[in-house]
Amino acid sequence: MDWIKIYRGVNQIGGVVTEIRKGNHRILIDFGAVLPGADNAEAADDELVKQVFSDRDVKTDAVFFTHYHGDHVGLKNRIPDDIPLFAGRTAIEIMKLIATGVDFVKIKNGKENETELPVINRIKPYWRPGTYKDFSGIKVMPLVCDHSALDAYMFVIELNGKRILYTGDFRAHGIPGHSTFEKMITQSVGKTDILVTEGTMVSRIAESAHNSIRTESQLRQKAMEIFSSHSENVVLVSSTNLDSVMSFYNAVPEGMAFVCDPYQARIMKIAIEARHKHFPKDYRYRENINVICPDDNEYCMRDLKAFKVPGTDRHPFVMARWELINKKGFAMLARPDRNPAVRPGKFKSLLNEMNDPFIVYSMWGGYLKGGKAEDPAVVSFMDGHMGAGHMELVHTSGHAYVEDLARLMDMTDPDTIIPMHTENVEDFIKVDAFGKYISRIEKKNAGEVYEI
Ligand SMILES: [Zn+2]
Repeated sequence: MDWIKIYRGVNQIGGVVTEIRKGNHRILIDFGAVLPGADNAEAADDELVKQVFSDRDVKTDAVFFTHYHGDHVGLKNRIPDDIPLFAGRTAIEIMKLIATGVDFVKIKNGKENETELPVINRIKPYWRPGTYKDFSGIKVMPLVCDHSALDAYMFVIELNGKRILYTGDFRAHGIPGHSTFEKMITQSVGKTDILVTEGTMVSRIAESAHNSIRTESQLRQKAMEIFSSHSENVVLVSSTNLDSVMSFYNAVPEGMAFVCDPYQARIMKIAIEARHKHFPKDYRYRENINVICPDDNEYCMRDLKAFKVPGTDRHPFVMARWELINKKGFAMLARPDRNPAVRPGKFKSLLNEMNDPFIVYSMWGGYLKGGKAEDPAVVSFMDGHMGAGHMELVHTSGHAYVEDLARLMDMTDPDTIIPMHTENVEDFIKVDAFGKYISRIEKKNAGEVYEI
């Protein structure tokens, strides 16, 4: 009756739900939706919800969210109201900001009862990272980890005298870097009985070998080169991929303007406030942040304008004035237009007004035309701008490279390795870098239990 069960998200990237069970108690990790474009889901959303909550005798002590990406939190509205929810403190703030926009669209579409803010308001922040809390005999220790979402977590879980490391989505090449990763694993984790690890990159080895940009610091270097040789730079990056957002901000050369919209500015504000103490070189206010206000109406600056850089009298958020910005040259963070019918996007029209824009494409290449998971919004944004000399792919993965997964195995010396979050779990056992660990890999299909 005591087990690890991955309901969904073994042979697919995302839609993750994992259960750690002790008797008739359990905790759940993540409650994700299937990523758009993923056909052949291991289970459809409705079916999954039914599977997870069909046994009324089992008590769910809590749901822990590793991070705010939709493939990990997307079904949070389907969790019964009486179950406690947890996520990182900064992650919750960012989720609230995202929900404001999402709920606006839902209300406009007559879906008031599907709004997200009420559920997010129920989520409590984690206790002190690196310390345990007991949930009916399942001890849980959250650890902050590096991912393309800010304030992401992995967990050490103790159950029946066994130590489990559940990685969630992670990487070692972001702003915190390899040394922070190794220090955390050796000091707070060490020898592990069971390693439940993500394996996104095991099916993308060839693809990542083609990408010369491996780390966030290389991304920043490349962005500096591009911004110095073009004057109309448009950066397509996920607004909540804060390490990359900050790398682009810091790459803007002296005298050039950094431009974004109010939504992006508010996310940057949350991120800088949460992180500037830990990463003072990367998470800081540097140049002004020029905010594009719809119809040049200052109302959109209402909460941003008054803000001062801590310890100074400087207001970093200013309303964008295009006549000035055009003179100086700019790097503008943009987004594809997701809901043109409800909220027409401004970035595509700004792009159309430019003389010779250069697009820095900083998302997974799979979303582009002909890619593994073609995204119509991305394809339409990039239409007419795909030519060599007009765009460049400048992106680092949000997920650990296979060498870092191997390094994690070395540091934790697990007796059993359970892979998940892969495009194809069969690829996991073919990785040369996992050499001596191959015999310890235990492939479990979605819904199968690993007894403890
Ligand atoms: Zn994920």
